[in-house]
Order: sequence, then structure tokens, then C-alpha cells
Amino acid sequence: MSHSRIYEDRIRDVPDFPKPGIVFKDITPLLADVKAFTAAIEDLVAAVRDLQPTHVAGIESRGFLLAGPMAERLEVGVIPLRKPGKLPCQTWQEDYTLEYGEASLEIHQDACAPTDRIVVVDDLLATGGTATAAVHLIRRTGAEVVGACFVVELPFLGGRDLLHGVEVHSLIEAKE
Ligand code: AMP
Repeated sequence: MSHSRIYEDRIRDVPDFPKPGIVFKDITPLLADVKAFTAAIEDLVAAVRDLQPTHVAGIESRGFLLAGPMAERLEVGVIPLRKPGKLPCQTWQEDYTLEYGEASLEIHQDACAPTDRIVVVDDLLATGGTATAAVHLIRRTGAEVVGACFVVELPFLGGRDLLHGVEVHSLIEAKE
């Protein structure tokens, strides 16, 4: 079976969650299946390895589940991009709009250095608001964002178009 088929079979559509009209892509069945989860991590790593990242930046919360195992395989560190009030030292904050609401992300101001090459990771790319906020935060530290990767992309929402200058990879594209 192709990897795309394995992922599609293990990502569940939940209609009208968290709001009416949203089809939520639930990756928990994929996370719970060690073979599928391992394949997804390895495919994400293969997609970004040539970008020679120095760190993987995971977006809270589902991005964290991917960033750790990816970083371990890439032999690089992890930078957490967190919801407001969670990071203990000096932060920068970015407010943004996502598919089903508004939110904010924070980064430690000293999280990366100007020579660093960062790959952003999250479970899903929808409108691109979240990933764009992540890119802006990382650029404020002076580091370069070389790539962004996702398990699922909703191409009809055009998120990729917002990520100028960033190489974008997704394992599967959903049609609704
Ligand atoms: P966006 O900023 O619109 O690209 O939304 C992406 C972020 O919101 C990611 O962190 C996703 O986890 C979450 N998200 C947005 N839409 C969905 C969806 N349809 N299913 C699951 N997660 C979503």
C-alpha cells in the first residue's frame, strides 16, 4: 500500500468540529499506529533533510508530536512555538487568524541565532495563518526559515501561497 493511502486511511474527518462548517482532520489514529507514525516521520524527514536545517520548530500542540522525532532523526534541536504565557523567558508574540478562529504564538527571543536554518513543522496547513505567524516569529530572531512541512495540506485554502520564500512540503492533500 502506498504511504499516501496509509495516511489517508488513518486521518479521520470530523465534520463541524470545532465549529459548524469545519471538517477537522483528526490525526490521532495515525499517531496511534506505530508503523504509520514512523513512516510519516521518516517521510517528513526525507522531505526536509536536503535543506540542511539546524533546528525543527514545532507549533503547539500537534506540531510538538512531530518535531521531537523528526529532530532526533535529523540530529538537530527543537524550538517550541507556544501558546501565550507558556514560555518562561523573554518572548515575542504574533497574533493571527486560522481556519477556525484567532490565536497567538510566542517564541523565546533567544531561541535561535542568525546563522540558524529552521524548518517549521505542524500537523496541518489550512489558510496558512499559523505557519505564517511561525515564520514571522522565527525571522524576528534573525534566523532563516528554510522550509515548512505538514502531514496534511488543504490546498483549496491557499496556505502555501502565504509562505513566500519557504519550501513547503506536505505528505497528503485533502479535498475538503
Ligand atoms: P491555518 O492557520 O488556517 O493554516 O490552520 C492550521 C492550524 O490550525 C494547524 O495548527 C492545525 O492543527 C489547525 N487546523 C486548522 N484547520 C484544521 C482542520 N481542518 N483540521 C485539523 N486541524 C486544523
